[in-house]
Amino acid sequence: MDIFPKTISTKGPAELFTGDVYFDVIAKGEDPSQLRVNIVRFAPCSRTAWHTHAAGQTLHVTDGVCLVQARGGEVKVVQQGQTIYTPPGEWHWHGAAPDHFMSHLAMWETTGVADGSETTWGELVSDEEYGYPE
Ligand code: MN
Repeated sequence: MDIFPKTISTKGPAELFTGDVYFDVIAKGEDPSQLRVNIVRFAPCSRTAWHTHAAGQTLHVTDGVCLVQARGGEVKVVQQGQTIYTPPGEWHWHGAAPDHFMSHLAMWETTGVADGSETTWGELVSDEEYGYPE
């Protein structure tokens, strides 16, 4: 059994996140496990850039109000206690609502490749793209 020290919060870099986003690594499985779990905390208006996950991703909203959008779809409002799944290769972003903080657990798997190719990052989400659905 391992019991780890209390996690530390790392600020998400400005090339991948708009606004104040902090993540804590909760689980990083040792081979053969490919488990990855982070808790991610978003200030109001903050969000990820557009990105995809090679093996998909599950998000569980633990606090606040989440906005999420898949490429070509509407922005969706997701509440605390709800779970989001994005399939492998689907372009999407996630973040806080304009008027709420938001925290979610992010759960995904590595691809077993050391170059970090499990997540592919694109452009930042513009102010025109971001916001509550019409
Ligand atoms: Mn994602």
